[in-house]
Amino acid sequence: MGKAIGIDLGTTYSVVAIAENGHVQVIQNAEGDRLTPSVYAESADGHIMVGAIAKNQASANPGRTVSSVKRLMGSNARIPVNGRSLSPQEISAHILRKIKADVKRQLGEDVSRAVITVPAYFSDAQRRATQEAGKMAGFEIMRIISEPTAAALAYGLNRSDIQHILVWDLGGGTFDVSILEVGDGLFHVRAVNGDTHLGGDDWDARLISYLKQQILKIHDRDIESNACMFQQVKEACERIKRELSVQDESHIFLPLIAEPNHDAIEIEMTISRQVFEDLTQDMLNMLIPPTRQALKDAELTPADMNRIILVGGATRMPAVRRLAETLFQQSPDTRLNPDEVVAMGAAIQAGVLNGSVQDVVLIDVTPLSLGIETQGGLFTRLISRNTTIPVSAERIFTNAEDNQTVMDFNVLQGEREMVRDNISLGSFQLTDIPMLPRGKAHVEVTFEIDVNGILQVSAQELHTGESAGIKIDAVHLLSGDQINRAVAEAAVNAIADGQRRSEIETSIQTNHLIQAAEALLFGTARRLSKVSRRKIHAGISEAKSALAGGQSEAMINASQELTSVLNSLQENCERA
Ligand code: AMP
Repeated sequence: MGKAIGIDLGTTYSVVAIAENGHVQVIQNAEGDRLTPSVYAESADGHIMVGAIAKNQASANPGRTVSSVKRLMGSNARIPVNGRSLSPQEISAHILRKIKADVKRQLGEDVSRAVITVPAYFSDAQRRATQEAGKMAGFEIMRIISEPTAAALAYGLNRSDIQHILVWDLGGGTFDVSILEVGDGLFHVRAVNGDTHLGGDDWDARLISYLKQQILKIHDRDIESNACMFQQVKEACERIKRELSVQDESHIFLPLIAEPNHDAIEIEMTISRQVFEDLTQDMLNMLIPPTRQALKDAELTPADMNRIILVGGATRMPAVRRLAETLFQQSPDTRLNPDEVVAMGAAIQAGVLNGSVQDVVLIDVTPLSLGIETQGGLFTRLISRNTTIPVSAERIFTNAEDNQTVMDFNVLQGEREMVRDNISLGSFQLTDIPMLPRGKAHVEVTFEIDVNGILQVSAQELHTGESAGIKIDAVHLLSGDQINRAVAEAAVNAIADGQRRSEIETSIQTNHLIQAAEALLFGTARRLSKVSRRKIHAGISEAKSALAGGQSEAMINASQELTSVLNSLQENCERA
């Protein structure tokens, strides 16, 4: 019998996976990504685009771009594109056709048997429409299964000792709660509830409006007056949200594009997780009523739940996980990647129906987080613990010193904030970096783990193309005890580690500010009045003594003082 795949045909993204030889593997698309945007578009001359290419041109070609078509499945809606009108099934079939082609490209053979997932609340008509889309794309649909059921399958929860499973699925635009009951290895959906207008995008929107206010206050500019500027801030906010899922603070540096009659402005800001959580607390609370209602409908209590599993990218937010812990008095199961868990479960179901999966299926995950050492002895994560492999991640780093021609990369694994508390896996050096002022070199660091757990780390200077790297195959060689110990130590030391990290970050920022003020003084001394020079000198020496004293609060105060001296000078210059 040929191979069979599992497809999570999502509202914003679709994912495809296969279960083979005891492993479940997410299949990358032609662009090298594991998630394919569920977006369809046509160019003016009728050229069809699907996935990232369609998404990337959406703002320039909104009239011929279709997204979130899943919301229309099963309805009689006709979607106008380029003078024709398409059914939701036809649009979905285009997305499935791309998935089919990508699978063929990756596996080297055509796969036509598939299991597709749908939300648990999908009606018969919506399920039939999904099946029809699959057939149009040339698939033989083996079964349509519910997304929470697929997630539970991926977690291997079809066991007799587990009776009730609660699934929270918080995606980009929707929140679904499902309560499943397991009996004889089969899942029965006891209750579903949710909010079709609540998702991670709403968390972004809050950050956008916070930044909008700050930019208005500090720079007197309204980001909404310029579509490109707004788009820049929007993308930055999604990045900040993701960073705050793994870090206590997110630093942004955003050079916003110039507008007619206005200079370009640079936004530099630090947003703490606490501020983000305060801004979004009311939305977090909106997860509670649908959950209570689902429990009520299923005639169960929180204490009856044997497992809580989290699905959807937005459940990575620590506040969501903490809320689950508070409501159910147990830690939610978060071992699997919440973006991929549904497709993995669908793949297992496809494997079972196909006869290629008999019993145990292993889903490989990174046992600990992986990252590199950055300034001040800090550990910067690129891949979080429990990410399913294969996986790749990249991030741009910059030079910490002026004219730095060599960068050392120390590759680490662990859960602590400081390098010294984690395990070093190896190091390498990137040389021949062009001489540039601090912060101006751009080095892209890529972490890639293949199906066998082999980690390849590379760094490339983007101006010159110069690159270096290292191959490490020890990522999986830790024992279960060592992993548990590393995780437990990180939990015990979380507060102290977080404090230490923020102290170091404060001293790095203070140091940068001192250097910038000294450069300004040096470069413009002759144009500055004696009073201004004296003020800057005083600010610098205050900041230097705070830095030497090592007290964060004193550094923050001195930095604020120095920043306001520099800002007032700038204002005077602008007015002059
Ligand atoms: P999904 O529809 O499941 O793909 O979920 C997409 C939503 O998850 C978007 O709002 C993403 O911004 C959000 N998301 C993805 N990764 C993270 C993360 N690490 N932290 C917070 N939100 C995330």
